[in-house]
Amino acid sequence: MQSADLAVRPVAPVLLGQRALVTGASSGIGRAIALALGAAGADVVVNYASQAGPAEAVATELRDLGRQAVAVRADVGREADVLALFEAARAHLGGLDILVANAGLQQDAPFHEMSLAQWQRVIDVNLTGQFLCCREAVREFRRRGLEPARSRALGKIVCVSSVHEVIPWAGHVNYAASKGGVMLMMKSIAQEYAREGIRVNSVAPGAIRTPINREAWDTPEAYARLLTLIPARRIGEPEDLARAVTWLVSDEADYVTGTTLVVDGGMTLYPGFEAGG
Ligand code: NAD
Repeated sequence: MQSADLAVRPVAPVLLGQRALVTGASSGIGRAIALALGAAGADVVVNYASQAGPAEAVATELRDLGRQAVAVRADVGREADVLALFEAARAHLGGLDILVANAGLQQDAPFHEMSLAQWQRVIDVNLTGQFLCCREAVREFRRRGLEPARSRALGKIVCVSSVHEVIPWAGHVNYAASKGGVMLMMKSIAQEYAREGIRVNSVAPGAIRTPINREAWDTPEAYARLLTLIPARRIGEPEDLARAVTWLVSDEADYVTGTTLVVDGGMTLYPGFEAGG
C-alpha cells in the first residue's frame, strides 16, 4: 500500500479553537501529527531542534489550512529552551490545550561500546525532554483552568513512545531505556492529574517510514527483512500515528487516560509465533 492511500483525509473539525504544541514537528511523525491536528481545527506551535526551513514549511501548510501556526526552535532536553517554548506558545496562541511530546532520537552502539555521552543524550532528549514538556503543559493547563466550550478536558498530553517501551532492543539500550521510562512516567502523570481532568496517554509506533530508521526500509532487502517483524505486512506511515493522536486528544477519547495506544501492524504480537511456534 502506498502512502498516498493513507493520507490524512478531511475530518470533522473536532479540535476547532484548540491550541496544540507538537515537539520535533519538522519531520516524520511529528510533522504528520501537526498537520492532522491542524486539519482537525487546531492552531499549532511547530517545534524544531535546528533546521528552521522544514518547520516553517509545516507552519505555512497549516496557515494555508486557515489555522494559526508558528515555528519555534527549542532543544527539548534543555530546561531554559522548554520554558521559552511554552512562553512562545502562550504569546502566539494565548494558551495551550494539547501537548504532543514527540521529539526523539537514537544514538546506537553495542552496549559494551556505548559511551556515557551516547547514553546521556538519548535519555536527555527522549525522557527528560518529555518530562520537561509534560511538566510545563500541566502547569499551563492548571494556570488556564477549565474552558468547557473548548474541551471537556482541562488538557491533553500524548507522549510518542515506541514498541520498545516493551520490546527489548539489543544495540539500542539507551533508546529502549528511554521509552520504557516514558511508559511509567506517562502512567504516573496520568494517575496524578486524572481527578483534575488532564488526560495523559502515549502512542507506541512500530516501524514507521521516517528518517529516524531509514536503513530499515530504504532498500528492498532491508524492507523484506523488516516485513518478517510485521504481521500486517506493510511498514507504517506517519499518518497512521497522526490519526491515532487526533482521536486521543479529541473529546471522543474523554474516558481514556494512562494508556498506550500501540500503532504497529502487530509488531508486538510475537510475529515469530505466526506459524504456530
Ligand atoms: P524523525 O527523526 O523524523 O523525527 C524526530 C524529530 O525530533 C526530528 O524532527 C528531530 O529534529 C526532533 N528532535 C530531535 N532531537 C530534538 C531535540 N533535542 N529538541 C527538539 N526536537 C528534537 O523520526 P520520527 O520517526 O518521526 O520520530 C518521532 C518520534 O517517534 C520519536 O520520539 C521516535 O522515537 C518515535 N518512534 C519512531 C518510530 C519509527 O519507526 N519511525 C518508531 C517508534 C518510535
